[in-house]
Amino acid sequence: MLSAQTGAAQVPDAASGDEVFRPGEIVAVEGRPGEWELMEPGPGPDVWTVESARLKGRVSAQAAVSALRRLADAPHVRRGDLVMQSYPEQERAAVVGAVFRLGQWVAVKSYTLPDGSVSRAMDSVDRLEVVTPEQLAAAVRLDVAHGAHRGRIVQAVVSSRTGQFRVVCRCAPGAGEICRDGRRVTWCPSLDSARALWDWHVCGAAPVG
Ligand SMILES: [Zn+2]
Ligand SMILES: [Zn+2]
Repeated sequence: MLSAQTGAAQVPDAASGDEVFRPGEIVAVEGRPGEWELMEPGPGPDVWTVESARLKGRVSAQAAVSALRRLADAPHVRRGDLVMQSYPEQERAAVVGAVFRLGQWVAVKSYTLPDGSVSRAMDSVDRLEVVTPEQLAAAVRLDVAHGAHRGRIVQAVVSSRTGQFRVVCRCAPGAGEICRDGRRVTWCPSLDSARALWDWHVCGAAPVG
């Protein structure tokens, strides 16, 4: 019966090997109604501490790994992710907290404001893109000034405009986007072309000399 014992000892490894769960995932738990967030592994092997995936009245429980079931429509963001709203002008990133279903998947996001206070907001998960601190740090955000013009050259971090640049100036109406020839020229493919647009804005329209 040595072989049977060896086989039994290997079962937990084999069972958990193809199902690797991570903290923050929302799953179903066999025998428990509702949806659950994986908070942390344990206590003990092959158990997860889970919390009901909702905004209020969250209940903590323990669930065996073998009882966890992946959701067919699981959200693509998890607690702790750094996210941005997926539109090209977005510059601010937030940290995901609770994720739960409210008709559709929503996430509570926290922003740290310049004064150090934390602002919370809820957002549809469909609108959020996960980003890395490196992506944020690498994005060009340049203050530019010329005469009375005070502007910025800003690189998009998310959306289909990722990597492109827009140029804004305080003197321009609305969102401050600089217009050229009566048309909006908001997006430049390179930093050089963004600088050229800025130069045109501050000098190009004025007589030389
Ligand atoms: Zn200007
Ligand atoms: Zn000038």
